[in-house]
Amino acid sequence: MADRDSATNQMENNKKLLDKMERLTTSTGMPIDNKQATMTAGPRGPVLMQDFVFSDEMAHFGRERIPERVVHAKGAGAFGYFEVTHDVTKYTKACVFESIGKKTPVAVRFSTVGGESGSADTARDPRGFAIKFYSEDGNWDLVGNNTPIFFMRDPIFFPSFIHTQKRNPVTHLKDPDMFWDFITLRPESTHQVSFLFSERGTPDGYRHMNGYGSHTFKLVNKEGEGVYCKFHFKCDQGIRNLTASQADSIASSDPDHSIRDLYNAIATNNFPSWSLKIQVMTFEQAEKHRDNPFDLTKVWSQKEFPLIPVGKMVLNLNPRNYFAEVEQIAFAPAHMIPGIEPSPDKMLQGRLFSYPDTHRHRLGTNYLQIPVNCPYKAKTRNYQRDGPQCVTDNQTGAPNYYPNSFNGPTDDMKYAQQTFSTSGDVARYNTKDDDNFTQPGNFWRNVLSPSEQNALVSNMAGHLKGAQDFIQKRAVENWSQCDKEWGRRLQAALDEYKAAAGKAATAKM
Ligand code: NDP
Repeated sequence: MADRDSATNQMENNKKLLDKMERLTTSTGMPIDNKQATMTAGPRGPVLMQDFVFSDEMAHFGRERIPERVVHAKGAGAFGYFEVTHDVTKYTKACVFESIGKKTPVAVRFSTVGGESGSADTARDPRGFAIKFYSEDGNWDLVGNNTPIFFMRDPIFFPSFIHTQKRNPVTHLKDPDMFWDFITLRPESTHQVSFLFSERGTPDGYRHMNGYGSHTFKLVNKEGEGVYCKFHFKCDQGIRNLTASQADSIASSDPDHSIRDLYNAIATNNFPSWSLKIQVMTFEQAEKHRDNPFDLTKVWSQKEFPLIPVGKMVLNLNPRNYFAEVEQIAFAPAHMIPGIEPSPDKMLQGRLFSYPDTHRHRLGTNYLQIPVNCPYKAKTRNYQRDGPQCVTDNQTGAPNYYPNSFNGPTDDMKYAQQTFSTSGDVARYNTKDDDNFTQPGNFWRNVLSPSEQNALVSNMAGHLKGAQDFIQKRAVENWSQCDKEWGRRLQAALDEYKAAAGKAATAKM
């Protein structure tokens, strides 16, 4: 039907792929005689226990849901490729970057962060931007966001931070006191909260936003020399955001706006793409830099560390099945390949543990055997065996212990990570006051246009007004430290809300 978009017409399009109706079976493959009635003793029942056609399906139905992701529950996925356009082999030996023109298959999942899997796509929230590169040296996952920074710089806060973005444990409602109390008590979040309430906090779908690896990583070349690196995926479609009122309106008219937009674009061959650029910092520069280069709440200035072009990512294939290929896809920053290594970034170090850990809970011990997660370009050979849902040949008769004398797979020092030394007294270092306001101040003064400043203040005040007065005061104090004018305007906008609420209360009397 000409007037229906590809997403709406999916059933009809799929019908054309099914040239003849196949035999209906139970999950054991037994042909089914009649799928329109349970097996009963007489037309009015009762139902017989021997009705395996019914119990087989019902038992499976009761187990259809797997645990929802604690964060990033609502998302859309697509497949495509990454192609190298510029030589960066002086920085890294990673096989995905080994020669100009090299293409590596990728899977991407975009998401909102705080909402449940049925929540609105246009919510004010960061957007997840996770990429899986299926390389010959295994899968490399770059698990980033549409912002180059994050709310926290120490992973110990992650569970508390997420609790404040989700629901009050009694009312099961979003709670402005929880949200702003935590944010203002941990002012390292000021930079990211400023991005969140800017127009980039409500991107128009997933095709019109940048992606960032966000963390600092380490690149190592064939000679064993390393640099620190940040990854930027610049959107070739151009940045496009929704105003707060557009986002609210779409949330009610089409809460799945971003999923639909991505699906339809790819289905009509309007393939979205992003240009990969990197910033690099030598170890010496990192030593001397005024900021901690491993602090996830800060960017590396693009003026000091210019963007270096690397390649292009194109998404040209929709998932064949959402659950199989999007719900079950499992990204983890720990999934790296030779040539790409972690930096000391504390948030990265925390995520190296927590992502594989949550996938083992959500999908099971053998989550890397699921086809969309399987490193199919590399041959997985190791001494891991068995476990629930083992769906491979379990490496048949190969030795299951190491070392062995029977030709089991063997290690090779050529894949060793770069040796590095570390020093420092072991302690818990509270980084609450590690310059939280200079970069957001630069953002306010040097990046935002006057109309973007207006929108930011209005978006912040519209949300902050729901928190108690002492929390509002602390927020104004924090943002005044970024820029006095910003704090003054935030206070003025809050005062306006208060005056309007006062007038409304008087009118009701
Ligand atoms: P630059 O002027 O070189 O870079 C500013 C960057 O800001 C741009 O390149 C663009 O990054 C980003 N930007 C532009 N408009 C907006 C917007 N409305 N909302 C969010 N980001 C926007 O200066 P610096 O690199 O020294 O950075 C100055 C400030 O810019 C930083 O303190 C930070 O707040 C912000 N910023 C910096 C980024 C970086 O990687 N250095 C990235 C994003 C923001 P892009 O092209 O990636 O969109």
